[in-house]
Amino acid sequence: MLYDFDLIVIGGGSGGLAAAFRAAEHGARVALLEPGALGGTCVNAGCVPKKAMWLAAEVGRKLSFAQTLGFAAQDCALDWPAFIAHRQRYITNIHASYQQRLDKAGIAVLPMRATLRDANTIECEDGVRLCAPRLLLATGGHAARPDIPGAELGGTSDDFFHWTAPPERVALVGGGYIATELAGVLQALGSQVEVFVRGQRLVESFDAELADQLAEDYRQAGVHLHFGCEVSALEQAGNGIRLVGEGTPDDAFDAVLFATGRRPNTRDLGLEAAGVATDKRGHVIVDERHSTNVDSVFAVGDVSTDLPLTPVAIAAARRLMDRLFGDRDRPLDPDDIATVVFSHPPIGKVGLTEAKARELHGDAVHVARSSFRPMLHALADSPQRSLFKLVCVGEERRVVGIHLLGEAADEILQGFAVALKRGVTLADLHDTVAIHPTSAEELVLMR
Ligand code: FAD
Ligand code: NDP
Repeated sequence: MLYDFDLIVIGGGSGGLAAAFRAAEHGARVALLEPGALGGTCVNAGCVPKKAMWLAAEVGRKLSFAQTLGFAAQDCALDWPAFIAHRQRYITNIHASYQQRLDKAGIAVLPMRATLRDANTIECEDGVRLCAPRLLLATGGHAARPDIPGAELGGTSDDFFHWTAPPERVALVGGGYIATELAGVLQALGSQVEVFVRGQRLVESFDAELADQLAEDYRQAGVHLHFGCEVSALEQAGNGIRLVGEGTPDDAFDAVLFATGRRPNTRDLGLEAAGVATDKRGHVIVDERHSTNVDSVFAVGDVSTDLPLTPVAIAAARRLMDRLFGDRDRPLDPDDIATVVFSHPPIGKVGLTEAKARELHGDAVHVARSSFRPMLHALADSPQRSLFKLVCVGEERRVVGIHLLGEAADEILQGFAVALKRGVTLADLHDTVAIHPTSAEELVLMR
């Protein structure tokens, strides 16, 4: 069979771009299909615009300390349209940089949707068919609204990124990453925020003690949290939207956002034509080397059964391309992947939560914790505290979990995640001289 390319990548988001660049570095002839903006969810409707909004909210929070610290008082309300113009300029630069790199690498970019026709053939939107010995699925996912009456009255994170002003009253449904992040940003930028969580905690997969402390911080900041509250419908009420369900308020909201999880983009992808297997929720099933059940078809990122995080998609893509076109075979270790929710303050984790460690190791678990007021908050007389935890096991007190809630947790965690992966013990941390005065020093001082 004559092939048009060595690799066809479907989707130009975090995983697809990383794969295309790495395969081209190995000398492969690559085609990449992307009907939308380069960079996918992360660059256009995820990590990047979200972090921009988070940074704006953090600046706003710091400005609120200014007067207490002795700065002359000023009205520093955010000009949303101006900030969004900055944000979008930044994103446009990323697009341009990707385009340049793609051109330089000789990757053929087709701005079209693709559908599989068989295990080696894709069909572009314009009807052209292309063949390759290897196909990579990197089509990501999309926000899902729950199947309840009136769901269309609510938006998702995609809508949030189109807003040019904060709604006065906003309801967020969900208690995971996105609901927690948007709640913090919107409250800090001027909205009155209520969060409706069907479970008993925010960010359930994080350490429970820290998640509870975060909920307390949110309450102090003015966010209304409703736990154990299932929203069963949305209704139009005058010029607002009302939530229906036990424990929901009678008052209407100016906007409602669902942050109730995401679904993989596998519908209409032609997976049946190629015989590619999916799980019950539609994710492409991959093994630890990102092979599917079909020899010539691979998948990375949110479309697959991997953890839906950008660095996971990128790491999986690069490792897969090193295996297919280079001479390195390093499966991705799904354990001990560090992750941060950009709440206010941020919360991060790597490794086992205390609860999971106790389930696995019982009495062999030792927990070191430090609860403290970061210096800026102490100076500004703000009540916000940080809570850091080390979960250790065995006599040697090997660190199996690091949990951080507080200022700079997002920046501190990365380096300590390396140490955890290398098997650091509590004694190793105590052997390290602290950097003073910082929040990070607590990690080498706590017992
Ligand atoms: P995507 O980035 O979604 O890219 C898939 C691409 O495939 C899209 O561009 C799409 O247009 C294209 N496509 C779809 N179907 C087809 C088709 N048939 N043919 C051709 N192309 C197609 N992760 C983090 O690590 N940190 C964060 O801070 C973070 N924040 C987030 C905030 C929000 C609001 C959201 C929604 C997500 C966030 N994520 C974050 C998750 C992160 O964005 C995803 O894990 C990541 O983008 C997944 O990359 P991907 O390549 O699998 O898919
Ligand atoms: P999450 O899986 O984090 O959270 C979904 C939330 O919605 C959970 O609280 C879940 O409750 C709830 N939920 C699900 N279905 C319903 C329903 N029908 N009614 C009410 N509540 C419901 O998903 P997100 O959408 O917040 O984010 C998607 C993914 O994107 C994340 O898992 C993460 O991997 C990634 N992401 C990463 C970020 C980062 O790295 N900082 C930031 C944003 C997103 P329950 O637990 O009871 O099922």
